[in-house]
Amino acid sequence: MSSYIIALDQGTTSSRAVLIDEKAQIVGIEQLAFTQYFPEAGWVEHDAQEIWESQQKVLLRLIEKHKIAPTAIKAIGITNQRETTILWDKKTSQPIAKAIVWQDRRTADFCTQLKEEGWESYIQQSTGLIVDAYFSATKVHWLLENIPNAKEKAQKGELCFGTVDTWLLWKLTEGRSHYTDHTNASRTMLYDIRKLQWDTKLLEKFDIPTSLLPEVKPSRADFGYWQYEGHAIPILALAGDQQAALFGQFCWEKGTAKNTYGTGCFILMNVGETAPFSYEGLVTTLACGLNETPLYALEGSIFIAGAAIQWLRDSLHLIDNAEDADYFAQKAPEDHQVYFVPAFVGLGAPHWDMYARGALYGLTRDSDKNTIIRAALESIAYQTRDVLEAMRRDTQILLSHLKVDGGASKSNFLMQFQADILNKEVIRTQTPESTALGVAYLAGLQAQLWTPNELIKNYNNTNKVFSPTQRSDWRSLKYRGWKKAIKKTKTK
Ligand code: ADP
Repeated sequence: MSSYIIALDQGTTSSRAVLIDEKAQIVGIEQLAFTQYFPEAGWVEHDAQEIWESQQKVLLRLIEKHKIAPTAIKAIGITNQRETTILWDKKTSQPIAKAIVWQDRRTADFCTQLKEEGWESYIQQSTGLIVDAYFSATKVHWLLENIPNAKEKAQKGELCFGTVDTWLLWKLTEGRSHYTDHTNASRTMLYDIRKLQWDTKLLEKFDIPTSLLPEVKPSRADFGYWQYEGHAIPILALAGDQQAALFGQFCWEKGTAKNTYGTGCFILMNVGETAPFSYEGLVTTLACGLNETPLYALEGSIFIAGAAIQWLRDSLHLIDNAEDADYFAQKAPEDHQVYFVPAFVGLGAPHWDMYARGALYGLTRDSDKNTIIRAALESIAYQTRDVLEAMRRDTQILLSHLKVDGGASKSNFLMQFQADILNKEVIRTQTPESTALGVAYLAGLQAQLWTPNELIKNYNNTNKVFSPTQRSDWRSLKYRGWKKAIKKTKTK
């Protein structure tokens, strides 16, 4: 009988269940979207119950559709949208409010206050994070302060806090397991990433009782069982989506990195067993390793990447489909000096300028649609280089190649330009499912379904390698132009 791993991939807009066979290949995917709530400007919520129900539905549908016997499922792994915050009643398992999603900005003023009170450097030292509404700590605080009776109940030990991994685990195990993993804990802004424990000083500051918190385990561990048709199926891995993708991209060694080109970009670099302090606007986070020793990653996110191509399509109507961008870009002159800075919502890592706005520089009478499209694609690669250079300054690590995935990595033009502007090989994967694969690899390792060597041997996920072809004077000239454009765009 064949053996399988099931990865539950709980994302911001949909819940997915992915079936992986014993050769670590994806053989089935089920997906369901769920409701996004925007009750006020800057607020984003999910219904935790609906997240669970959609996740349960796709899990059962996957098993039924592929006629998988319960005994054939060797393990379940959970990967999830990170930072999203849920509080629920320990006895009834009922959420006490809607989940506050990572994108939610309602606690931005509280974060400003924290900075004014001088918490920034302590928080960065302990948690590796910058003070921002993005992370869970201020969301938990908000729920405790604003939901009637929440604080009293929390103090009496009647509530549980969890990010989405913890919530799904609680539901799958019918309230028997209240755990999270290193990667998710490191996104709460409450976890000391070097001591590997909840930070009591921060818990005190945010008025969060310890009884609320899940126990933290390595990403590969025994997290409990899901009872299905009389069988106990072990849950053996939990990991936040970006860290799961880093593992799924086989970035297992210090100095390896991946970039996911979606709406924005998520760049993570494995920096080994010592946590660096970032002076360059990056966050330090816990990552998944091959064993229990914690690994660290530097992470930089770019707000607008593929979304710049969407903008060309939907707002300027320069293209009908995102895939057409390459065709036009190739018709523009290679040495043009037009720069498109897509700072539509400010600039993310490593610049961090909330007030910057988008701009086009260097237009001349012969600038045309082709050049603008080319400049938009190029901007994605320049922003990626900015983040990778910041990582190099923080760690002195020299990157050997970049692993890539995500929707916009389908652009051959962008990938070649990325290789040229970095002067590094860019390696694109066959399937875009690095996240689900990553957590499945972890669960399968824990279940002893495969060894690391077997995974690498069976791994046949490379789609294309893009090698640099340009001269260094071309690269320097182009990148210098970009740096000038960024300088002109920044407000500080
Ligand atoms: P997300 O997970 O953030 O929703 P995806 O990984 O699905 O994003 O990627 C979608 C993004 O990729 C869109 O912003 C789209 O404009 C861009 N994209 C998709 N295909 C291409 C392409 N061939 N060339 C350039 N950009 C593309």
